[in-house]
Amino acid sequence: MAERQLAMVMDLNKCIGCQTCTIACKQLWTRDEGMEYMWWNSVNTQPGRGTPKDWEKMGGGFPNKKPDPGRIPTRAEFGDAWEYNHKEVFYGGKGDKTHLQIQGQKPDWGPNWDEDQGAGEYPNSYYFYLPRICNHCTHPACLEACPRNAIEKNAENGIVTVNEDSCRGYRFCMAACPYKKIYFNQVAKVAQKCIFCFPRIEKGVANACARQCPGRVRFVGYRDDQNAPIYKLVDKWKVAIPLHPEYGTEPNVFYVPPLGPARFDEAGDLDESTPRIPTEYLESLFGPAVHDSLAILKAEMEKAREGGKSELMDLLIAYKWKDMFGGFDRDPASIEWVKAESTEG
Ligand code: SF4
Ligand code: SF4
Repeated sequence: MAERQLAMVMDLNKCIGCQTCTIACKQLWTRDEGMEYMWWNSVNTQPGRGTPKDWEKMGGGFPNKKPDPGRIPTRAEFGDAWEYNHKEVFYGGKGDKTHLQIQGQKPDWGPNWDEDQGAGEYPNSYYFYLPRICNHCTHPACLEACPRNAIEKNAENGIVTVNEDSCRGYRFCMAACPYKKIYFNQVAKVAQKCIFCFPRIEKGVANACARQCPGRVRFVGYRDDQNAPIYKLVDKWKVAIPLHPEYGTEPNVFYVPPLGPARFDEAGDLDESTPRIPTEYLESLFGPAVHDSLAILKAEMEKAREGGKSELMDLLIAYKWKDMFGGFDRDPASIEWVKAESTEG
């Protein structure tokens, strides 16, 4: 157990699925050889099969307080990085006679293959976006499964990382993580995963995915900082809840569930009594706590609509971006970053 625990809250009512977070992470951390298929941050459409495909059916974690060995997702289930004819299009001198095309065998799956499909029948169809990173769990199944003790939970901030010098590529961690948020690098032969941007955090800078998010979806900070939004959203207002709490790993990424619009009735009028996103579906993702969370959100929204003051609504609107990061609001451009030495050659 770490002395303090860093955490993230993501407000699903504000995520627009733009993938800026995904690309911010990719640019910063997963550009080396063997990392092409890795998306430490992914944003999937719900309902949907997710990334890797059907990850919720692969086991792992501690369901009913017992360890479940789980299984390793295949490369095909993650979806490979596709090859394109970039050179031909951009440097081939063919003008408008060519266009971007996938090279080789046509893929039948990839991350976000089912993007924006969702569920339900028109006019009551629905979907929402679910951004995911490693949850930096309090009870990390990945760490417990590693026979080399290569996975470490930082004692001061609770960030979970892989020590690549100790890792021998056995991949028990990939099978054991119920969120399927560890990848295997076939070139370096080690497991790799989200590091909660610890080199930025150490310098007072919020994670790249959070800092770059144009939707102001992500809050960052210590769980026990009572003056910061994480504590207020998770412990005080109890509207931010973990994904699949039944997996038993005690995640430290929390979600404000989506309210969604009302349904249309058969006459085409809005039926405010029935939510378009079925609450049973949300319960299957976030557990029974989702009912109280949605009720609190609705009540506070109503209060604010009627002109009342709502601390919760003010927090979620996030008028000032700096207020979202629990003190991790230093400008990354103001820091002289030292580039890590290359291990190649
Ligand atoms: S979390 Fe933010 S950056 Fe990521 S997809 Fe949603 S709105 Fe875009
Ligand atoms: S989400 Fe998975 S990889 Fe991340 S700490 Fe939890 S068990 Fe480990």
